[in-house]
Amino acid sequence: MCGSLVISYDIYILRRIDVILLLCLFQSRPCLAGGEAYELYLKGDLSKAASSYFDEAAAQPAEARPLLNAAMCLKQAGRYAEAARAMTRALVRAPHDPDIYSELGWLRFHQADYTGASSAFETAIRIQTLHARAELGLASVYSNLEEKEKTLLHLEKYRALRPDFAGVDYILAWNYMNFKMHKEAEEALVEALRKDPSFTEARLPLAGIYARQGKFNEAWNQYYRVLDYAPGHPVASKMMKVLEGKLTKQPEEIRPPFRISKPLVMEPLDALQKLSGSVKIRVGIGTGSTGKQGRNNILKIKSFEGLTVTGKASGKLFANIPADAVWTVTGEEGRVVLKDPAGNIFGRFAGPILVKPGRPAGSVIFSASPKTSNPWFRGADRQYRGYIELYPNGARGIGAVNVIENELYLLGVVPSEVAPQWPYESLKAQAVLARTQVLIRRARGGQHKKDGYHLCDGQHCQAYKGMSNEHNTTSRAVVDTEGEILTYHGRPAYTFYHSNCGGSVQASKEVNGWGDSPYLMTKHDIAPDKPQTPLDPWEFQLWITGNPMANCNYPGRVRASEFRWMKIIRRKDMTFRVNKDYSIGELLDIIPLRRSPSGNVNSVMLVGEKRSVTVAKEHLIRNILGFSSLKSTLFEVEINRFKDGKIRNYWLYGGGWGHAIGMCQSGAAGLAGKYNKTYKEIMDFYFPGTAIRRIKYVKKNK
Ligand SMILES: [Zn+2]
Ligand SMILES: [Zn+2]
Repeated sequence: MCGSLVISYDIYILRRIDVILLLCLFQSRPCLAGGEAYELYLKGDLSKAASSYFDEAAAQPAEARPLLNAAMCLKQAGRYAEAARAMTRALVRAPHDPDIYSELGWLRFHQADYTGASSAFETAIRIQTLHARAELGLASVYSNLEEKEKTLLHLEKYRALRPDFAGVDYILAWNYMNFKMHKEAEEALVEALRKDPSFTEARLPLAGIYARQGKFNEAWNQYYRVLDYAPGHPVASKMMKVLEGKLTKQPEEIRPPFRISKPLVMEPLDALQKLSGSVKIRVGIGTGSTGKQGRNNILKIKSFEGLTVTGKASGKLFANIPADAVWTVTGEEGRVVLKDPAGNIFGRFAGPILVKPGRPAGSVIFSASPKTSNPWFRGADRQYRGYIELYPNGARGIGAVNVIENELYLLGVVPSEVAPQWPYESLKAQAVLARTQVLIRRARGGQHKKDGYHLCDGQHCQAYKGMSNEHNTTSRAVVDTEGEILTYHGRPAYTFYHSNCGGSVQASKEVNGWGDSPYLMTKHDIAPDKPQTPLDPWEFQLWITGNPMANCNYPGRVRASEFRWMKIIRRKDMTFRVNKDYSIGELLDIIPLRRSPSGNVNSVMLVGEKRSVTVAKEHLIRNILGFSSLKSTLFEVEINRFKDGKIRNYWLYGGGWGHAIGMCQSGAAGLAGKYNKTYKEIMDFYFPGTAIRRIKYVKKNK
């Protein structure tokens, strides 16, 4: 049952949002409790945690688990030799556990003890024939020993066991390159990218292979695609400039922009008409990762039904743009300059102008142009309902804001955030969360107040690709949930969400700067009837390197590479990246300290030759470990060293995509698709204690 709240143009209820913060003082109890050693481990007090686990081991002489937990704490602290000794002791207590042999093998491998490593891996495989991680371990041993045949044999076995995992193809490619098998490397990289298009570390070497073969257009295109996922990537940006003179085609021919050539035909949805009765919101479009508008030097505008251009303050009509005609707007010396196709100037505006479609149900299209400096308007036509406000925006050229009714805006948000083919109830869940986000951000007005809009159109607020992205399924989900928001004690809830949690969501209070809300708690993202047991250090190791069951582990609907991922980063690349932000000299160790019970790393120590730093902000942790950001903070690091202790490279095993707070979008798809849960049950699962209520939009006369 939905209650009814009346929301005025000012959404006055939300003015009392501070009350929510008071309510949040009542701390939620972590629902995954463990012992004292476990608490020390979560805090990052790794030496004490290890001692405490050793005490447990002494008190329980038959149990291997405390020794394994101690070993994992020591390993996380970078003390691999001691960790290996604890593992050996654990084997006395549990001599037939293949996982212990396999992890012991890895500890030895990372210390360049290849004989010891291969014997441990082989024992693991003798006990359990199909042991994926031991196969990868053997392959890695032979790879470092440069034994081609054996390396490839074991990698193939590993691939057979983890066929959906893009990391396999990446490791294969890495080895093919070492063995100078460029053709095979190319195939493996293409395969890795098919499974995970965001895999920057696979795209860069592929571009390099193309460039070496003289396929400059293909190489350029690959570097361009790196920038899609890692804007400003230093290597990709530099290489694109290097290649520019060698291209045999125009950039627009190599990568033709997406064009909108005819009006969008939606399944008849009479209800869409009704949606235009909601409140208007302002959305900044073409914004970057911080939510600020990109630099717009030139914009091309057109429509299917004609456009009017009026002054925002004066209301004066400056131009009627006929249907299909493409006009140009440029930012020149602090003015917005409007030109027709012949170049005639229709005004130089020092204030905002409004570009409105000829019919209320029409749209404004930004026609993609290679001359535009903002990539958002360069690669694809962009189409928007409502109308567009353009204004001089200082050094950023032209500011562009989409003014649109809230419910119509949601038609563009839901399919930008989740796959329209996903189970229907998960689409409805997304619609409710996105709507609640708008109300909270509109009322708070804080984050983008200076920018002149309520929300940006990127991940920073919520993804919004406008009308061209709309789908019938997602539009129906907006209509079916019209006006519904998630509330806690009668007030809008903080409806955070993320793409994929990797198997556990984390409480907001675990993460610096996210506040504390009683309904944003740590829990495993598994079917509601499954037990919630804590991931102790040993369990976490097997869980993060394996392929465990979870709502968001949903083959066929969710990319496996979003649930589990891995990277191998070279020593010099990691040192270079870290020193860009902190001059600590040669990087000697990476030690995850504080972990949420979900496994997410919420502070990490970077040990350098000159000094050490501790990084404790979610986005900083994700950005500093490598050239392209990590998908999440849910990871573990293994450091591979030469015999003399010098670092060879860093292995990162990770899970999930996003901050892991609130609703896991992939998990919602799993709950709806695998367990037939309704959107209300999905809300109850991710936001326990909240309720769905329906708001009424009431327009206030100004
Ligand atoms: Zn934003
Ligand atoms: Zn999840």
